[in-house]
Amino acid sequence: MTLFAARLRHLALLGSLLGLSLTLNLAHAETQRPSPETRISAWCADLGKRLRSVNADHCRQQGFLADQSSHGDRPLAYLDRAAAKAGSKSPRPNRVLIIGGIHGDELTSISIVFRWLDWIDEGSAKNYHWHVIPLANPDGLFNRPSTRTNGRGVDLNRNFPTPDWSANAQTYWVERTRRDPRRNPGQEASSEVETRWLQAQISHFKPDVIISIHAPYNLLDYDGPATQPLRFGRLSLNRLGVYPGSLGNYGGLHKKIPVVTIELPSAGTMPSARDQRAMWVDMLKWMGRNIKPLEK
Ligand SMILES: [Zn+2]
Repeated sequence: MTLFAARLRHLALLGSLLGLSLTLNLAHAETQRPSPETRISAWCADLGKRLRSVNADHCRQQGFLADQSSHGDRPLAYLDRAAAKAGSKSPRPNRVLIIGGIHGDELTSISIVFRWLDWIDEGSAKNYHWHVIPLANPDGLFNRPSTRTNGRGVDLNRNFPTPDWSANAQTYWVERTRRDPRRNPGQEASSEVETRWLQAQISHFKPDVIISIHAPYNLLDYDGPATQPLRFGRLSLNRLGVYPGSLGNYGGLHKKIPVVTIELPSAGTMPSARDQRAMWVDMLKWMGRNIKPLEK
């Protein structure tokens, strides 16, 4: 063997040893971090314990995915359910983004999303492409006690990068809310990982309508183009006004996506089964009449 060939063999051996140790290290790292499936399964178990009307096994059967985590390392989980098969010539199905639990102490806003998951394959609902986020603020829900704000004490619904954020968000908080810790908009727009994740969900999914669920003001609010909804079940339209950094302001006024804010009547007690259904039926009727694809 020439000296050159010997060196080459030496190098190859060294390389394979290094490669091996790299593989071992990666395998080691993976054993430390639970798989996405395990994390979703644990997330469902935690939800089942925290929310009376959510069943952990039912949650696990839905096929939730999570590729990002909250500040407190909890899964930011979502579900993507494409529309029932349409012909190749039919227009693309309208896209609906549902967001619950942006405020972690509004428990019904999370539970009702799980109820609706049972209905998204029925009737006219199956014609839509659904993207469902039942719990946008997991750290808030799993805080003890649950908090409106996220794991860093920021109100995610005041943290979206609306054009008026720099000029107004902090001033509004200081002067109008007297620094209410429940309404802290953060040090800057999009300072929170959960806000940035929601923004990314919106920009990738490109919803034609966003349904954002809260409690307990017992009303409907609306921002954006399209005809405003007047009534979903017992909830009727009562516009609350626009806040710097809110999702309605960001999605509805800035991004021109219709944003319906549903304020359930109680944060802790679910509406009756009949009221849940009436809300859902009216929502689908309104969407059928008023929601058009925003992007061809
Ligand atoms: Zn809320």
